[in-house]
Amino acid sequence: MIISKLPNVGTTIFTRMSQLAVETGALNLSQGFPDFDGPLALREAVGRHIAAGHNQYAPMTGLPALREQVAAKIARSYGRTVSADNEITITPGATQAIFCAVQALIRAGDEVIVFGPCYDSYEPSVELAGGRCVHVPLALPDFAIDWQRLNDALSVNTRLIILNSPHNPSGALISKAELDQLAELIRGRDIYLISDEVYEHLVFDGTKHVSVLAHEELYQRAFVVSSFGKSYHVTGWKTGYVVAPPALSAELRKVHQYVSFCAVTPLQCALADYMAEHPEHVENLPGFYQAKRDLFCDLLAGSRFSFTRAAGTFFQLVDYSAIRPDLDDLAMAEWLTRAHGVAAIPVSVFYQQPPKELRLVRFCFAKREETLRQAAEKLCAI
Ligand code: PMP
Ligand code: GLN
Repeated sequence: MIISKLPNVGTTIFTRMSQLAVETGALNLSQGFPDFDGPLALREAVGRHIAAGHNQYAPMTGLPALREQVAAKIARSYGRTVSADNEITITPGATQAIFCAVQALIRAGDEVIVFGPCYDSYEPSVELAGGRCVHVPLALPDFAIDWQRLNDALSVNTRLIILNSPHNPSGALISKAELDQLAELIRGRDIYLISDEVYEHLVFDGTKHVSVLAHEELYQRAFVVSSFGKSYHVTGWKTGYVVAPPALSAELRKVHQYVSFCAVTPLQCALADYMAEHPEHVENLPGFYQAKRDLFCDLLAGSRFSFTRAAGTFFQLVDYSAIRPDLDDLAMAEWLTRAHGVAAIPVSVFYQQPPKELRLVRFCFAKREETLRQAAEKLCAI
């Protein structure tokens, strides 16, 4: 019998809820992906590059033209000049980027601070490296860092803190003041950061994303991770990148070159072309997704769910206490799917220990207007 290295891991909630949505014919607002396509010019560019013979291995660190485009975008968005050669690595998705950064840093006995609720790939990545996650719950209802608890969680074994802003599942944003406070807290200690910023361009109400890339002190010890999947509506392309100072990038690349060696060539070619031709694409994302958030929330205002509009990401949390306080969130997500035809994600699965009486589910609003209207109609009828 094989002894599992990940005894606590099963099939992810995203797979299970998407499957249930298919089985029941429910509208799938569970797993985070758009039900519309990315830009036509971007998709056509892939076919063009495949036809033109761009089908062999890309350079291990990523296509130079794409790394240049990412560097240019970082300069425009965050005012930092990074070296496309020494500080940017293109990876097959953000999940793989996070995995590689963790493997590059973590040894047996190391502790990694993750904030609850958090994305589900962090902990298995840490466990496979022999480390241990220390879960620090974010303060409710705003999902903000609880500084007392963070301070209490730090130990001589803390090697890494994983940040995520805009935050999945809550949509909460980290502020410049919070990054400053974090810098102060870890100054002089041997602690690194992974800053998961895959939703960097999905920030609403005129707020600007605060990136670790714009924080001089924190960047020096950080791996900043992003995903083209989110920014170009192509989650199935599984193409992302990591930005880190040269010494950290060098260590990350040692792992990346044996996990996958490189990311998919024609996808990188197409992204490089599209980014060069449409630098405005990412600037339009806040307005594009805010309109979806507002449509969904305006329609849900007529329901018995209560909520505060998400500040970022393409997820909206809703509280269902007024509807089925008797159900825990897993049962609620299943009931919504089976009985009401709208699939959702329960929030407790993002926690090691969910707060008692958590009555929240997550809806993904990266959907066509028609889907959002149909879903809202069903949800308002409950
Ligand atoms: N981090 C967070 C917070 C996410 O929500 C996702 C999307 N599933 C990822 C990382 C992974 O992105 P990718 O699909 O590029 O691996
Ligand atoms: N990040 C996506 C979400 O939160 C899911 C990605 C996945 O299925 N692994 O819905």
